[in-house]
Parts: sequence; C-alpha cells; structure tokens
Amino acid sequence: MKLLIKNGLLVTPDKTYKADILSEEGVIARIDKNISEKADEIINAEGKYVFSGGVDVHTHLNLALGDRKVSDGFYHGTVAAAFGGTTTIIDHPEAGEKDCSLHHQPDMYKKNLEKEAVIDYAVHGVFQRVDDAVLKEIPELINDGIPSMKVYCTYDNMLTYNAIEKVIDVMDSSGGLTAFHAEDDAVIKELQKKYGDEGRLEPIYHAKSRPDFSEADAIKQILKTAKGRPVYIVHLSTKKGLQVIKKAKAVGQAVIAETCPQYLLLTEERYNDPDGAKYIMAPPLRKQEDCDALWEGLADGTIDIVATDHCSFSYADKVKFGKDDFRRTPGGCPGVETRVPLLYSEGVAKGRITLERFSALISENPAKKMGLYPRKGSLAVGSDADFFIMDTDISRKISVNTLHHKCDYTPFEGYEATGWPVTAVSRGEVIVNNGRFTGKRGRGVFLPRTPSKKED
Ligand SMILES: [Zn+2]
Repeated sequence: MKLLIKNGLLVTPDKTYKADILSEEGVIARIDKNISEKADEIINAEGKYVFSGGVDVHTHLNLALGDRKVSDGFYHGTVAAAFGGTTTIIDHPEAGEKDCSLHHQPDMYKKNLEKEAVIDYAVHGVFQRVDDAVLKEIPELINDGIPSMKVYCTYDNMLTYNAIEKVIDVMDSSGGLTAFHAEDDAVIKELQKKYGDEGRLEPIYHAKSRPDFSEADAIKQILKTAKGRPVYIVHLSTKKGLQVIKKAKAVGQAVIAETCPQYLLLTEERYNDPDGAKYIMAPPLRKQEDCDALWEGLADGTIDIVATDHCSFSYADKVKFGKDDFRRTPGGCPGVETRVPLLYSEGVAKGRITLERFSALISENPAKKMGLYPRKGSLAVGSDADFFIMDTDISRKISVNTLHHKCDYTPFEGYEATGWPVTAVSRGEVIVNNGRFTGKRGRGVFLPRTPSKKED
C-alpha cells in the first residue's frame, strides 16, 4: 500500500518547506519535491500544512473509579483523538484494586486497547503503594516496554516522599522515568476540611482548596527528593510551579514539564458559572497571570509538552455525584480532540508560539521524552507514516455537537478555533478524511517504548 501526499507545506521543529511525502507499508519512504511515483492513494495538500501526527501523552480514555466511569472508552476516545490530529496516545490507568501488582493495570489497559484503539498507543504505569514486590517489578515493567510510571502526591494512592525516594532510586537505575501529579496533600486536606466545616462546598472552593503554592511546594519537594535524577511533572498549572521548574532547568536538573490547554486558556472564574462543576479537575483552573506565564513557558522552552489529561466524566455525572459538594464531583474534562486546533489557533495564529515550536510541543517533544522517537514524532524517512493535514482556512466554533467524543460537554464550548485537522494518517492509512472516519476499531498497535535518554 502506497500513499502519496502531494504539494503540502511540511512543518517540523526545524523548518517549514514544501514537499511531497510517499509512504510505503506504513513507513515514510520518501520526502522530496515533485514525487511522481505511482501510489494507491494520492491526496493533494496544496495550501495546507502537513504535521507529524499528534502525540498526546496524557489521556484517561477509559478511567473507572468505582461506580464512576468516563464517557468515552478507548474506541470513541481514539476516534476523537484522530479527528483532532492525534495519532498516538499514552494512556494513564487508575491505580487499580488494592494490592494489585505493578503490571496489573498496564496489562489490563493493553488488552482493552488492543480490541478498541483506532490509533497507536502506549500506557504508563502507576504506583498505588511501594513495597519490595513493587520495587522488584519496576525493571520488569520497563523491560516490557513501559518505562514511565506515575506517582500521586495527593489522593488515596499518594506516596510519601520516603517511598518516592525508593521509587526514584530504582526507576533511575533501570532507565525509567517517574511522572508526578504534583499537589501538596497536607495543604489540600486542611483547606478541604476548613471549607467543609464552613459549609462552603460550591465549585469555586475546589479551586480555593488547591492553591497555587500547593503545586509549587510539591514540585520543590519532588525535585529535592530526585537529587538531579530525571522527573516528569504532568499537567503544570501555575506560574509559581513554572518558576520552580525554570530555576531547576537553569542549573541543569533533568525535569520534563507538561501542561494542557485548559490551564492555558481557562481561568477559575468559570467555577462561579451556573455550570461551574464542569470545570472541576485537579489541579484546578487558575488565574489569568498563570495562563500568561504558562504561554511564556511554552515559548521559552521551560515547558516541553502540551498534552490534555483528557478525562471525560460527563457533566450529568458531575451533577449526579457532586451537585452540592465539590469534594464529591468526579474530576476531569475532555480535550483530546481540541488540543491541536486550540494550540494552533490560540498559540500560532495569535503569535504566542511559532509554527515550528507548535509542532515540537504536540508531536516531537512528547515522542522524544516518552521514548517513542523516531518511530513517532518525526516527519522523516524511516519513521511511521503518521501525520495530519491542517487547513488554516477553516474557522469554526468548538461545540460539543460537532466533536466526536462521547462526553456531554466540552470546557471549550464556543471557542472560535482557526486551523483544523482535515486528514489524519496512521501508519500510511488514512483514518480521517474530510470529516469522515475511515479507520477500523482495533487497528491501533501497542508501542513498546525505550527508556528515555537523558540528553534528549
Ligand atoms: Zn491525569
């Protein structure tokens, strides 16, 4: 099977240039001007951009916490991703049943993804506790192609910094990368109790109970515990946290920082809206000055990755479980389909980041940092033929009615986005074309990852 993309403007982190791309057997076989080889399928991308397929390294497409389950599942979640130009995801499992092995959750997720996913996928591991058995499993899980595992610094499955130190010791000596949900648990618990006692349980108190310094303090503590060994901070949301990371990077500490569109574009005022529960997520939405700082962090290189933390508990369930109490509201929001158009529209079109930086943030950097490069995240001969074509003439309001996720809302409802992916190609196969899904359930493959190299 040969696919030829003609006349597109190819965008890479280094340069933007006009060329044709020929894919053969799922791999990029040639990139050149005026390729005239015969192909089974030819797409004319004249006047449009061609990007390396989006890599979203933080999704929860099938999360289940007791009787609370997200709306999408792996099929609808990956279809939505493809419509949004994303051709690879790395999904985060929930912590799993008490005392389950470190392999249990990734193994279960892989099995489900194999049946459902329409794009290629990997999974992260997750720690729910630390004991000798768990520590022994770390190098085994890394050998099985899963070199990144997440630690929570808050919630029921949080680890103490003593335990975190043990985890980092083993992760680092085995070539793994520890990911952190960085929020200081003690601060949050205290404030939740205070607001609970005062009967202040409206959505805005969700934000007030998780102040910006609780993120910055946790990041400081993580970096101190890591003693220079690499760490990955997921969903960075504050200016204070960003400043801590910036300082650490300046002295050569290996820290990977990720943020998400909701932290770049939405602010805590939303919690005062009548539908404020929609925006309950952790960390919470912040202030405009935080958004502004994060945009600067994207431009100056402090932040490496834009992911989504897509976690689509429905608004109906948020109301059902937590209408009168923010502490009981399932947290998270959808975003896997809107990441690329929003970051292009609000970032590139508004002059906050360059076109090339955009391509690095959505594809090359996440692929490199998570051990998928150069198979993914690269528009070069020999890489998987994963790309999306973007039409910057299309301007459209984001609406839950036109998105493909199963969730009953989008936090970005009404946002005018300019520049939409119109075609998505995964391993040489066109899976989205002009508003139609043309892929197949279960066609995605598991991507075993190599431990990230520190110099990347
Ligand atoms: Zn998450």
